[in-house]
Amino acid sequence: MPVPFTQTKETYDIIVVGSGLGGLTTANRLAYCGHKVLLLEHHHRLGGLATWFKRRGHIFDISLHGFPYGMVKTCKKYWNKEIMQSIVQLKNIVFDNPQFSLQTTFDREDFTHILETVFKIPVATVNRFFTVVSGMNFYDDQTMTTRELFEEFFPGRSDIHRFLMEPITYANGSTLEDPAITYGIVFSNFMNKGVFTFEGGTDKLIGMMADELERNGVTICTNVKVDKIIVEKGKVRGIEAHGKTIGSKAVVSNSGITNTIYNLTERNAFSEEFLEKAAAIRINNSSCQVYMGIKEGEGINDVGDLLFTSTAAEFDSTELLDRETKSKTFSIYYPKTRPGLNRYTIVASMNSRYEDWAELEEDRYQEEKRSLIARSLRDLDRYLPGVAQKIDWTEAATPKTFNRYTLHTSGTSFGTKFEGLDVSRSIFKEVAGLFHVGSVGIIMSGWLGAINYGVIVSNDVDSYLRS
Ligand SMILES: Cc1cc2nc3c(=O)[nH]c(=O)nc-3n(C[C@H](O)[C@H](O)[C@H](O)COP(=O)(O)OP(=O)(O)OC[C@H]3O[C@@H](n4cnc5c(N)ncnc54)[C@H](O)[C@@H]3O)c2cc1C
Repeated sequence: MPVPFTQTKETYDIIVVGSGLGGLTTANRLAYCGHKVLLLEHHHRLGGLATWFKRRGHIFDISLHGFPYGMVKTCKKYWNKEIMQSIVQLKNIVFDNPQFSLQTTFDREDFTHILETVFKIPVATVNRFFTVVSGMNFYDDQTMTTRELFEEFFPGRSDIHRFLMEPITYANGSTLEDPAITYGIVFSNFMNKGVFTFEGGTDKLIGMMADELERNGVTICTNVKVDKIIVEKGKVRGIEAHGKTIGSKAVVSNSGITNTIYNLTERNAFSEEFLEKAAAIRINNSSCQVYMGIKEGEGINDVGDLLFTSTAAEFDSTELLDRETKSKTFSIYYPKTRPGLNRYTIVASMNSRYEDWAELEEDRYQEEKRSLIARSLRDLDRYLPGVAQKIDWTEAATPKTFNRYTLHTSGTSFGTKFEGLDVSRSIFKEVAGLFHVGSVGIIMSGWLGAINYGVIVSNDVDSYLRS
């Protein structure tokens, strides 16, 4: 249970700022190793973007659309067996666009079959493609783009580029112009065994994680926005929040990397060279979502778990970001999502730019949100005719909403582009005791990326404190 901020001690070994999956994992690992950890979260609940909200008996998940099988091992090893046991596969992934319509289990075997039978690619080419992408790692050549990778294996085949890229763009905001490794690593993770989800919903997962944090002795405070990370003589001394100073030997910021550098830490704590590198960081895009709740007692047909839909002629990263994009993913949550709760909810997700929403006057903003809901209902009707009559709650979130709840620069859903990773990884070389964890560089993004990054950073902090 969170404790009131007024009851915190004067000092801790480590303070973790922010409780996204990266922050939660770092806090948990460090407490497990015996350090005294204080976790401070600005929102009233833990989880960051791994969150949910309730309306009229509906529970809407924000970022529980699908993650790779790697979560099973990661959760077992770094959280606990009970968390691991709730991970289940989503077997029915649907693509529907003017170039092709198909269903898949989203794994290597099925993709190979589809590439061979639907897209008529020789199996030897498909196998070569899989061998190359699954062999990619962080230390590879980073100059090749995803577009170049696709052109090498499937030249001029915009339909195949769409099939391979569209889900990954939704999963981490990457485009055809990003380094091919940001595609290869994430795509191969999914291709391992398919797409998975957490049975019981995000609320159950975060509840189980909070229990584990408590067992390991983490002190948790919510509704606490950290205003400043205190640095003296090149070393972290603690934080300031609500006008109170708390001392610590190390601070791990799970706030965005740009927030951490520009808003939480004094600029003079960093070298000019580091600030120059930080200035080059490009923020990844944000999202829009429309939440739709089916009336209690009503049901809908099984039309798939995750539907990648579009009426745009071809895949185009710019079209995907347009405020009136013709492309969206529907996540359909059947009663199996939360066994025992006989409810259906649907979430439409779109990638989006902060500027397109932030600059609207209030009346226009509300009007655009209503249009977004209307377009989502119209598009959903293609798969579930007449569904609007069964829906008793609709609500929209925009990049402004994501910014408000997480404080992330431009409401970014997936941190930063590739260059953010190096800055995040080197911040502790600039300021002794200051660490960053959270979505950066596309690779360290998503539920699995954020948790795995939390483990890496907890090892860094542990070594620092023991050195
Ligand atoms: C719409 C959407 C859909 C997504 N779908 C998926 C999906 O299906 N699968 C998947 O794997 N990933 C998905 N993601 C991405 C995934 O949710 C994130 O990559 C991951 O949860 C980010 O974790 P994080 O550790 O970077 O922290 P975040 O979740 O970004 O959390 C950071 C936390 O820090 C807190 N904070 C910031 N500044 C301060 C401060 N000064 N003081 C105190 N607290 C502070 C914030 O309030 C927040 O709680 C989705 C994201 C979005 C937005």
